[in-house]
Amino acid sequence: MTKSKAGFATRAIHDGQSPDPLTGAVNVPIYLSSTYAQEEIGKNKGYEYSRVSNPTRDALETNLASLEGGSSAHVFASGMAAIMAMITLFKTGDHVICGENVYGGTPRLFNQIVTGYGIEFTYVDTSDPENVRKALRPATKLVHIETPTNPMMTLTDIRAVADICHEAGVELSVDNTFMSPYFQRPIEFGADIVMHSTTKFLNGHSDSLGGVLVGTKPSHAEQFAFVQKCTGGILSPFESWMILRGVKTLAVRMRQHDESGRKVAEFLANHKAVGKVFYPGLTTHPQHELAKKQMTGFGSMITFELGSLDRANTFLKGLKICTLGESLGGVETLISHPATMTHAALGEEMRAALGITDGMIRLSVGIEDTDDLIADLEQALGGI
Ligand SMILES: *Cc1c(COP(=O)(O)O)cnc(C)c1O
Repeated sequence: MTKSKAGFATRAIHDGQSPDPLTGAVNVPIYLSSTYAQEEIGKNKGYEYSRVSNPTRDALETNLASLEGGSSAHVFASGMAAIMAMITLFKTGDHVICGENVYGGTPRLFNQIVTGYGIEFTYVDTSDPENVRKALRPATKLVHIETPTNPMMTLTDIRAVADICHEAGVELSVDNTFMSPYFQRPIEFGADIVMHSTTKFLNGHSDSLGGVLVGTKPSHAEQFAFVQKCTGGILSPFESWMILRGVKTLAVRMRQHDESGRKVAEFLANHKAVGKVFYPGLTTHPQHELAKKQMTGFGSMITFELGSLDRANTFLKGLKICTLGESLGGVETLISHPATMTHAALGEEMRAALGITDGMIRLSVGIEDTDDLIADLEQALGGI
């Protein structure tokens, strides 16, 4: 879709966003029009109806395809709508292998809605790629992974899993929400489809929802456009514009997220009130070498252990700058308690199996002054 060879930050600002041909407006206008005048029967300017395509949405799709190095991108109303769009390609009897520690909404969608249509799912620990090979069946159509995982920050070797998939004629999709294309581009390691909740780092300001599927084959472009047209779970022109605006600063935001993420992780790892710290940038992370191989930064997602629910709650109540809330990837530091928030629905047994404890805290380090963040964490840790 885009042949631009410019650097990442340049493409983030320019790809898909030439000045408006009508007025010269530097920013892509928000085309709030459901329909488009046709010159005569069968003759139009490329747009007919906004469920099918819209100029603001097109600009965002061109931009995101460029940033991930894909050949097409299609945006949906949320990350979950994007995952659902991918799954609508499958039929009764098809089989999907999914990482066992992915975003909680993903297995909820698969197990409570999609299995009702006769599509089967197997969940495996993809940090050992051999588990993927073992779970393959003749009916397997897709392997869906997240790396790093939420909240355990476990990595999967994208290249190794892609090779196993391709030997078997199966496609690999990677949910790249945690790293953003600035730090990790799964297509370079063999992934066929990249998915994002644009709600997080891509938009970056905690003020819009969205999802994207980036494809690598003409069949992806055709199928995902067809799903947009048929099922209608598309991203609105306004949200498309919000994400275009957010993505312009992705490179500088990610550099700051990463710089502060490393400093905060070091601080936590050296604090006596803190137990284990899960962050791929720490040399103590068991997959630190893999992180350096497939990521160009470590990002700002950090999980750490405080020992008990009570200690976690006392700490959270003591914070003044870091905000307790779900979600991640915004300019503001968000902190959450997986056991009672994002991973509550898994139940105690599943959480225990994945290693998620009641004393665990997940931090999405924002781009406030690093010293202020560390001072806030320090004073709150002092109170427990
Ligand atoms: C938030 C999130 C999703 C779901 O996206 P929504 O935009 O909330 O629908 C999927 N995957 C990951 C990794 C996420 O963080």
